[in-house]
Amino acid sequence: MKTKKTAAVIGSGFGGLSLAIRLQAAGFDTTVLEKRDKPGGRAYVYQDQGFVFDGGPTVITDPSALEALFTLGGREMKDYVELMPVDPMYRLCWEDGDVFDYTNDADRLEAQIRKRNPADVDGYRRFLDYSRKVFHKGYLELGHVPFLNFGSMIKVAPALMKLRAYRSVYDQVSRFIQDEHLRQAFSFHPLLVGGNPFKASSIYALIHALEREWGVWFARGGTGALVRAMVRLFEDLGGTIRLNSEVARIDTADGRITGLATRDGYSKKFDAVASNADVLHTYGKLLGHTDRGRKQSQALHKRDWSMSLFVIYFGLKRVHPDLKHHMVLFGPRYRELIDDIFNAPGLSDDFSLYLHAPTLTDPSLAPEGCSAYYVLSPVPHLGTADIDWDEVGPKYTDRILDYLERHHIPGLKEDLVTCHTLHPFGFRDELNSHLGSAFSVEPVLTQSAWFRPHNRDSKIPNLYLVGAGTHPGAGIPGVVGSARATAGLMLKDFGLPVPAR
Ligand SMILES: Cc1cc2nc3c(=O)[nH]c(=O)nc-3n(C[C@H](O)[C@H](O)[C@H](O)COP(=O)(O)OP(=O)(O)OC[C@H]3O[C@@H](n4cnc5c(N)ncnc54)[C@H](O)[C@@H]3O)c2cc1C
Repeated sequence: MKTKKTAAVIGSGFGGLSLAIRLQAAGFDTTVLEKRDKPGGRAYVYQDQGFVFDGGPTVITDPSALEALFTLGGREMKDYVELMPVDPMYRLCWEDGDVFDYTNDADRLEAQIRKRNPADVDGYRRFLDYSRKVFHKGYLELGHVPFLNFGSMIKVAPALMKLRAYRSVYDQVSRFIQDEHLRQAFSFHPLLVGGNPFKASSIYALIHALEREWGVWFARGGTGALVRAMVRLFEDLGGTIRLNSEVARIDTADGRITGLATRDGYSKKFDAVASNADVLHTYGKLLGHTDRGRKQSQALHKRDWSMSLFVIYFGLKRVHPDLKHHMVLFGPRYRELIDDIFNAPGLSDDFSLYLHAPTLTDPSLAPEGCSAYYVLSPVPHLGTADIDWDEVGPKYTDRILDYLERHHIPGLKEDLVTCHTLHPFGFRDELNSHLGSAFSVEPVLTQSAWFRPHNRDSKIPNLYLVGAGTHPGAGIPGVVGSARATAGLMLKDFGLPVPAR
């Protein structure tokens, strides 16, 4: 019998786990090595006093991409995890009291648009049509295809030009829609993947069509339940996951990867290694002993990196049924605040927030009669603003909780049972993320597709990348797509059949 090829995946984020499942299902003997004590990466789960907090992703879109992983393994997703629809997909609130339920129900959506500005109904329909075209090209066609050479970029350039990819999302939305709040409602999406709506290519307008196509979902038990389902699937297929296992070094000889070693003394030879860790950490630290590692690390230092986040996880001894599961709370400034987040050397006085209230969909995430939340504020990364978050964090927490109490959650502070934060230092130190960036290399046209770190290294033939720092980029659909692109390369390189999906 032929011995199986061995592969290591460094990191158990959604991208790492999706790749590991694909490799294991295709016949690789696959080992995942994860630094932390639990899998999931940014989707880490915190627990305290009966409250369960998903650390990161909460808006699950394109369930079909997740289902495909189970199908590849000869299983059905429903036997592992249940996804529940969330409606409205988001509630958007402004400080003047304006509220917009961003729903997948076209009639309800258009009725709200009509109430604000009748002319925008037609504009919205034309925007949706545009968004769908971009979605077909940018997501369905190219979202899982590796861009390894400049030729592949040249090939898609005419299509990108036709789709006006050189415009920003906000500019493009503004060509269709007049009302300022509606422009914000249909342009804020790049922020979900670390992009600036005034700078990110209008290709990211595809997120609207993606949400309209499949809706927004939430896993029963939280996103952590989805991570656990993926780990169980991987293990059922025979894969191995090692937790508390931080890779310290990727070994090379004669221009190829030979294996890796962890901080706790584990070392092993592998036929191929794929890194789901931060791309700069991968080249600068894990391959810092090689010329290639040093060179790539220097180049990556010159890239623009996405912003960071300040996240407060909190539990209350009361429920608030009037809230919605996903809420975007716009502050007094939009363009100016976003400009500060990406460019200012300090923290703004105002903020816009995303509030996650998962117990409205799944009350089991808090003790009876209680409710769990997280609230996040996009903040500059450590290269933009050199803030001492250990000092500033507690005051910033107070400001945000005061704001929530005043505007949305009366009695919050008195009802507070548990509260902790994740800030840029956490992204840097816990997740090894360069500058504490929450979404890796910033999604702008000049850092997308071929211009992004490639799914396979161009010099070391058995070194692969997967996750937010490589094509197509951050967000669960993005990194699951990157796993498909990377797996396709690995299977082809090792003479294994590449599945159609
Ligand atoms: C607060 C927050 C909210 C978000 N909300 C959403 C959302 O609602 N919907 C959505 O689609 N996306 C969301 N995102 C984006 C999405 O979560 C990420 O883009 C995606 O999960 C990143 O996955 P990844 O595969 O790149 O790996 P990551 O999640 O970045 O995981 C990388 C893993 O590598 C490990 N690692 C690092 N170095 C080493 C090493 N040396 N050895 C071993 N392991 C190592 C890390 O510990 C980590 O577990 C959110 C992100 C954040 C931070």
